[in-house]
Amino acid sequence: MPYRVDLGAGQQVYIEQMGTDTAVVVASSGPGQQQQASSRFATGQWTKEPKVYLLDGGRNGVAIKIVAIQGQCFIQVFQGQISVQTTAGGDLQEMKMTYVDETPGIRTPPMRPMKPMEPIEPMQPMEPMQPMQMGQPMEMGDMSMNANTMEMHMGNMHMGGQGNSSAAAGAKNFCTQCGEPVQSTDKFCGSCGHKLS
Ligand SMILES: [Zn+2]
Repeated sequence: MPYRVDLGAGQQVYIEQMGTDTAVVVASSGPGQQQQASSRFATGQWTKEPKVYLLDGGRNGVAIKIVAIQGQCFIQVFQGQISVQTTAGGDLQEMKMTYVDETPGIRTPPMRPMKPMEPIEPMQPMEPMQPMQMGQPMEMGDMSMNANTMEMHMGNMHMGGQGNSSAAAGAKNFCTQCGEPVQSTDKFCGSCGHKLS
């Protein structure tokens, strides 16, 4: 079970028994950066919980007291440096430790087997176009279109094809007297004044 001590200013010290070693990790996290220093010391199996002391009010960092089968020692953490001392000189002020689940970065997490890539689903084939459910395609009543010749038949009307069909509609009349062309709506000939029927 690792222990954590908060040193303030975003700095933490983690202490963990690893086998017969004591692992110490100093982690400092600032805005946008994270630093970590770790060391392992062959202290032997702990017989007591470690204790952490503030050394000389923090001026000399902290000292971790390890009590192990082989005896006790102090691990000093000062300005990111981790060293082992047989004694801790100076004023010791015990610091509060908390239990943590894990010491960050002390173990390389086991490589997780890569998840095999999900096979890409084959494209669904396009559904074939449903035939129009409207009887004969492109034919409504007596209307039909023929795109090739640009002809259009609507009932009795016939557009397109050859020539200009306006000649039939605006049929020109001629004056029966003088032979000049007149409008079918004219009542009198514009040339000779002959009364048109
Ligand atoms: Zn006339």
